[in-house]
Amino acid sequence: MNRKLQAVRGMNDLLADQLPWWQLVEQSARELFADYGYQEFRVPLVEHTELFQRSIGEHTDIVEKEMYSFEDRGGDSLSLRPEATAGLVRAAIEHGLLHNQKQRLWTSGPMFRHERPQQGRYRQFHQIDCEAFGFEGPDVDVEVIQISARLWRKLGITDVRLHVNSLGTPESRRQYRALLVTYFERHRTGLDAESLRRLESNPMRILDSKNPAMKEIIAGAPVLTDHLDLASREHFDRFRDLLGACGISYEVDPRLVRGLDYYTRTVFEWTTTALGTQDAVCSGGRYDGLVAQLGGDQTPAIGWALGIERIVAMLQAAGTAARAAVPAVYLVLSGDRAQRAGLAIAERLRDALPGAGVHANMGGGSLKSQMKRADKSGASLALIIGDDEMARGVAAVRVLRGDASQQDCPWDELPGHIASVLGRI
Ligand code: ATP
Ligand code: MG
Repeated sequence: MNRKLQAVRGMNDLLADQLPWWQLVEQSARELFADYGYQEFRVPLVEHTELFQRSIGEHTDIVEKEMYSFEDRGGDSLSLRPEATAGLVRAAIEHGLLHNQKQRLWTSGPMFRHERPQQGRYRQFHQIDCEAFGFEGPDVDVEVIQISARLWRKLGITDVRLHVNSLGTPESRRQYRALLVTYFERHRTGLDAESLRRLESNPMRILDSKNPAMKEIIAGAPVLTDHLDLASREHFDRFRDLLGACGISYEVDPRLVRGLDYYTRTVFEWTTTALGTQDAVCSGGRYDGLVAQLGGDQTPAIGWALGIERIVAMLQAAGTAARAAVPAVYLVLSGDRAQRAGLAIAERLRDALPGAGVHANMGGGSLKSQMKRADKSGASLALIIGDDEMARGVAAVRVLRGDASQQDCPWDELPGHIASVLGRI
């Protein structure tokens, strides 16, 4: 049977009319990272499955049920990356970048999770990712948050709130975990199936349950921040003090535990009310143990990831304008002689007017149909060259937007003439 070919469910094509918003977000982030001294980094889309098992954690939703894992032809178990941090840490260790060094890095690109596709939740989605290695914090915890806060300002996004929490050290977390297990054991009859499963594997994840029926039991559970070790307590207090000192509003959310195992101390999440249920737009935290856990030197680290799809949806919902670049000039080539010279003329114009955008008409067509295409292209000017203009060594320069004037111009004067006309309209 000849099945109609379609994109894989939850994996979206990004058509040209959507891209201006993506470019706005990506370009803004790129500029900000440069301002803050973060360097771009790129890692493969595919890694050994073991990397994610050892970093994100065996008993997390991502590793348990969301990974695209497969055996390659050589028999290795590989996975499409569900997030960027693990690969970045792997690469930084592999290239010796963390040996007595500090690194401020960022990356972006597609991530893959086999989740139920819905508005704001896809199987291929895109993140921008920021990481700082070798800094104990809490000053750098605030710096990475400053970058995100500035990105919102730059994009004109106002409907976001910052939630923060501290997860303490693995040791203090173990003690807290024991208290939590005792508490949930006592309320076992009220737990849903998912939570019962988590009680065995990863009890803190029960706090993250999205089931409203679990709300009350969760509200009565012991609170992690009441059981922090002294150093983590001080780190958290100083972190909040620094946030306040640079005017970043936040709320402490003692239930914020995050879905990945590797977090320690500071965790945070920016949420919005603009997107319905998929309300997390940017999340992150400190992961002081991960580098050592993956075989590197003990290296403190912190990072965040934002979901580009969700940011783009917010910009579009807010009516933020983002336009595709339009050409300055559309070159209309009428008749055989003009068409023959056209490609070279277009190149000379691009040499003289870099960045302006010169669209040459391809495939011929009547003057009328070419003028229609010129109009549709959004260009400011049409440059019309027909047999008559060829013979005289000129082009007719027609203003397409506004006064629709037209004037002949010799070829070698075109760049200057075009620049001056563009300056006027
Ligand atoms: P959520 O609670 O929405 O599942 P998460 O805690 O799994 O988010 P992270 O793993 O921290 O999210 O990823 C960082 C950001 O990436 C999220 O804040 C969100 O904006 C975005 N994101 C995560 N999963 C998806 C997805 N399946 N589709 C689109 N964006 C996503
Ligand atoms: Mg998730």
